[in-house]
Amino acid sequence: MRLILLGPPGAGKGTQAQRLVEAHGIIQLSTGDMLRAAVRAGTSVGHKVKDIMASGALCPDELVVAAVSDRIDQPDARNGFILDGFPRTVPQAEALDGMLAEKSLTLDAVIELRVDEAILLQRIETRIADMKARGEVVRADDNPEALKTRLAAYRAQTAPLIDYYAQRQVLRTVDGMAPIPDVTRAIDAVLGGRKAAVGG
Ligand code: AMP
Repeated sequence: MRLILLGPPGAGKGTQAQRLVEAHGIIQLSTGDMLRAAVRAGTSVGHKVKDIMASGALCPDELVVAAVSDRIDQPDARNGFILDGFPRTVPQAEALDGMLAEKSLTLDAVIELRVDEAILLQRIETRIADMKARGEVVRADDNPEALKTRLAAYRAQTAPLIDYYAQRQVLRTVDGMAPIPDVTRAIDAVLGGRKAAVGG
């Protein structure tokens, strides 16, 4: 099964992706996690994206597309994957279409987690406070200024993907404001009890 989770920062994409991983035996492919790992490791990609990420802006398409293309060629992606945070622009979505076609793969669904933007900031602030309380390291872009940039980037560059995938009839929208287990159930319902395809 190959899925995309679409939604603004704080919509719960990461949380739901983890639940889908457990339920369907597929991998979560978070471009944000991949890029943060590159920054931590000090790779050339990491150097290029460090400041962009801290500002809350989006990293260059070609760089992210190349990373995803490599990643989905790995053996552990064979049973399927959940793209969390990718694609984030129309050119990325077009590049994904191209790479999937080239690999003879198809998308099962694009799940939009629809949330009330007015409460997103509050939700993220709660998440940051919880992380601090647990003594965890807070992300460089989890601050009010970068958050505004992240939300603006979502509105301007990522929200157009809702139409992009609606036109291709793969978009499924669930209410991301519901309690976490209800969102999980709603996602299961739109997936129609689908199980991971074995072998390819
Ligand atoms: P995330 O963890 O998904 O919130 O991503 C954190 C940051 O990584 C974003 O604000 C961007 O700077 C960068 N990033 C992650 N995914 C992408 C992507 N698909 N395209 C461009 N930049 C990305």
